Amino acid sequence: MSAVCCLCKPERWHDWRWQFRHRLRTIEQLGQVIKLTPEEEAALSQPNFVVGITPYFASLMDPEDPTCPIRRQAIPLAAEGASGPGTAADPLNEEGLSPVSRIIHRYPDRVVLLGTETCHTYCRHCTRRRRVGMVEKGLTRDELEGAVEYIAGRPEIRDVLISGGDPLTLANGQLDRILAKIRAVPHVEIIRIGTRAPVTNPYRITPDLVAVLKKYHPLWINVQFNHPKEITEASARACAALVDAGIPVGNQTVLLKGINDSVDVQKRLVQELLKLRIRPYYLYQCDLAKGIDHFRTPVARGIEIIEGLRGHTSGLAVPTFVIDAPGGGGKIPVSPQYVISQSPEKVVLRTYDGKIVEYPEPQF
Ligand code: SF4
Repeated sequence: MSAVCCLCKPERWHDWRWQFRHRLRTIEQLGQVIKLTPEEEAALSQPNFVVGITPYFASLMDPEDPTCPIRRQAIPLAAEGASGPGTAADPLNEEGLSPVSRIIHRYPDRVVLLGTETCHTYCRHCTRRRRVGMVEKGLTRDELEGAVEYIAGRPEIRDVLISGGDPLTLANGQLDRILAKIRAVPHVEIIRIGTRAPVTNPYRITPDLVAVLKKYHPLWINVQFNHPKEITEASARACAALVDAGIPVGNQTVLLKGINDSVDVQKRLVQELLKLRIRPYYLYQCDLAKGIDHFRTPVARGIEIIEGLRGHTSGLAVPTFVIDAPGGGGKIPVSPQYVISQSPEKVVLRTYDGKIVEYPEPQF
């Protein structure tokens, strides 16, 4: 594949397949778009770091600034080779919670179906990096049959999340088949899709794709915008097409050191998301996956960010800050402390701007 200069914007720039096929992977290709640092070049030569960046996402990078938030999410650094204390290849024990191939069953009433291990762009902070991008393939017919059989045999499963990898790297026909099989299970109430396509390859949201998705309501989509710089005309158009089709879109941001670990960046991000009719849903503390330790922030930083948002912007804009329990215990919400004391008579509380108030308890 020849190197692609993002700035040239060839004729097929707006074709998601063209973007996908021309993902930038090498020093030579990326060197045509940005001024790589020696550290980035050294990490790009590591054969075990999976790299793939759509020309669109690469075009958002600052060619001169190695701290650019888009660059830091897509171009590896040597730090990925380090294993910090407490890290693990599978920190959430997803393999242990997989009763059949491609299913993760952590909570009683819902499952994750891993639709593929391929992504439009490989994020450096990916929790599933142990498998994502290693082999670029979607689930086979047999795997789909096995997964659907598992779901169909458990009436308590009311919610299926199709994740990956990025399920929106699959062709419309394949996605249609998967969705039809899941929707045919009578006790499945809602289907969710987790995707970064609107962020890293927004041209994937075509009218044909939307027509497929609309057939399977109630269907929800969660995206992952991590920085306001990712909100562009193209990504806004992609999200509008989903929302206009009646698909509620939520956002799950990963808290990333040096990228979005400040109140200012998070506030701008959540406010921009609301303008796109996207509900900020979760702010994730970075998981303990091997190779992403350099993205971790102290938990206190996440609490500070929520404190800096709550009351200071629309309540609708404030996500829930969560830690995914190491070992697979599920998401744990972590909040700033607003309750100062509690007795049978009253609760003493702190307001968002530091005033102390009392709330009397009912006395009957
Ligand atoms: S899009 Fe999701 S699955 Fe793919 S690399 Fe990024 S975080 Fe991982």
